Amino acid sequence: MLLFTPGPTPVPERVRYAMAGPTIHHRTPEFTKIFLETRELLIELLKMEDALLFASTGTGGMEASVTNLCRRKALIVNSGKFGQRFVEIARAFGKEVVELRYPWDEAVKLDDVRKALKEHPDIDSFFIQICESSGGLRHPVEEVASLIKGMRGDEVVVVADGITAVGVEPIETDHLDALIAGSQKALMLPPGLAMVGLSEVAIERIGSGSGYYFNMAKELAKQRNGTTAYTAATTLIIGLREVLQILLREVGLDELFDQTDRRATATRLVVEALGLTLYPQKPAQAMTAIYDEDAEEIRSLLKAYGVHVAGGQDHLKGKLIRINHMGLIEPHEAAWVLNALELALDDMGRREYDGTANRLFCESYYRLLED
Ligand SMILES: *Cc1c(COP(=O)(O)O)cnc(C)c1O
Repeated sequence: MLLFTPGPTPVPERVRYAMAGPTIHHRTPEFTKIFLETRELLIELLKMEDALLFASTGTGGMEASVTNLCRRKALIVNSGKFGQRFVEIARAFGKEVVELRYPWDEAVKLDDVRKALKEHPDIDSFFIQICESSGGLRHPVEEVASLIKGMRGDEVVVVADGITAVGVEPIETDHLDALIAGSQKALMLPPGLAMVGLSEVAIERIGSGSGYYFNMAKELAKQRNGTTAYTAATTLIIGLREVLQILLREVGLDELFDQTDRRATATRLVVEALGLTLYPQKPAQAMTAIYDEDAEEIRSLLKAYGVHVAGGQDHLKGKLIRINHMGLIEPHEAAWVLNALELALDDMGRREYDGTANRLFCESYYRLLED
């Protein structure tokens, strides 16, 4: 079965081999060397001043950012399940929340942010997804961050959940104070590792830290010295070093972003040519989300063709098909997914199969979108 869900994504064979060695102890010079190399590569990937690793899923990185970077009052963009999660985390820790809520296909509006900041001069932190994965939506994070810094300077720390954006598309990090990533999306690792890039301003805001397990001050002190406060996720960190070597040193980020862009763009051309409807008003590059009343039937037909794509959640359950573009993906696999989609539409009697999906994908990927 081809795993084409926007997380988890398949782990490359070389990375699986790198993680197959015997377990090493985390308080050894051997592991410290691996940890420091990984840290350096991670900071380069994130384009931030510093970075922390946590043995947790991505949500742990979100929680750590809320508890260490929000003092009292947070402004949070909620255009889906993951924005909602920031709201729930902040409330769970007794923070005041000003919520900017939108339908799941709609990006944040700069005017709303401006208005909220004026109405609530005591907002001290801002939280947003770069790609809101529940609808495949791209928020204009860079513009919003620049607006916030222009209005309030470093009184407001800007936290971006980049779990489905880091390693997917270029992110302008100049005005970001925290950038969150997770292992099982574009970084092609098994779940269990959260990463948070930090700016100087964020490091200052952290101060002596907050909380216990997710105390960023305690972790920063340890991780800068090549160790972690608690047992490191050694196997996953070894895998991360291998992934980052591939992405940064062998493939190169520009090439990775270009391939992802061509795959995503060609996929969207095919989806529209097949008469299907793209869900988000402004799609992110991490995935293509298709709105369809028969999404469940299409997804189960796709399984018969050996393709596993994701569906929708909550009110979009049964109405969405989400096709992953994150990671290093062979073009023939991406073409097969779309070919299977075209076959499924024929099976349902909706559109006669004529090979459009495969032809248009290959033509676009290799010709139209080249250079
Ligand atoms: C997957 C994801 C997360 C984290 O989910 P976990 O299950 O905790 O790893 C957070 N934000 C976004 C945008 C995601 O796509």
